[in-house]
Amino acid sequence: MSDHTHGRALSATERTRHRRLREQGGIDRADLDAVLAEGFLCHLGVRVDGHLRVLPTVYGADAETLYFHGSVASRSLVQAPGTEVCLTVTHLDGLVLARSVFEHGVNYRSAMIFGTPRPVTDPEEKLTGLRLLTEQAAPGQWDYARRPSRKELAATALLALSLDEASVKIRTGPPDDGDGPDAGLPVWAGVLPMRTVRGPLEADPLLSEGHTPPPHLTALTTKGI
Ligand SMILES: Cc1cc2nc3c(=O)[nH]c(=O)nc-3n(C[C@H](O)[C@H](O)[C@H](O)COP(=O)(O)OP(=O)(O)OC[C@H]3O[C@@H](n4cnc5c(N)ncnc54)[C@H](O)[C@@H]3O)c2cc1C
Repeated sequence: MSDHTHGRALSATERTRHRRLREQGGIDRADLDAVLAEGFLCHLGVRVDGHLRVLPTVYGADAETLYFHGSVASRSLVQAPGTEVCLTVTHLDGLVLARSVFEHGVNYRSAMIFGTPRPVTDPEEKLTGLRLLTEQAAPGQWDYARRPSRKELAATALLALSLDEASVKIRTGPPDDGDGPDAGLPVWAGVLPMRTVRGPLEADPLLSEGHTPPPHLTALTTKGI
């Protein structure tokens, strides 16, 4: 991703301009690439039948576009193309334990993307988008597992969201009250780091004998998120 976007600035529209805690706002397009590359789960805010909903869902992204998918029967996905959506990706890095409750917070990296998604109907782009989705979550699975059949493709809606209007926010480091009036309080302060970890693989009990996990999956169990 970063090869294409290296050195580019993030969009600065009226919507994506940070107002509060501006120092945490990323301005480099590479910040967005890094946040997107590290995850595969997002939250899609979309209006359905006039009501707002926020859906957790998986995504895959290339340099310009983020793809998300679901059933063609999903009303959120069917209605999303005609409407503006707001999609977020969040990585939680730690709990910031300050001297005062007021200064407690979290260390995180997050991205927010605005736009009107388009349905992907071109068969080649549909396969490309689904491959990105699969590979983002489990690199190597697209080539390893059976690919979608024509019937499965017809049952799957794929939507594409441009990365043109996006913002990034990142907080790192210790609490902010170490040099303020509360510095002298007899209270421990610091950060409780938090990570998502991958556990050991658990074989399907229905797996027939002789199947061992492929290297690309065993490699995933030691890779951090
Ligand atoms: C895990 C987590 C927990 C949080 N908990 C709290 C909390 O308890 N209280 C709190 O006040 N804040 C919290 N935040 C920060 C929160 O997401 C907002 O950044 C903050 O509240 C400012 O909101 P605002 O509407 O005033 O932002 P504004 O500065 O008015 O937002 C303007 C624009 O900045 C961008 N922007 C704002 N926030 C983000 C973001 N997080 N990621 C990417 N782009 C962003 C968007 O494009 C937005 O339209 C948390 C963030 C994370 C990731």
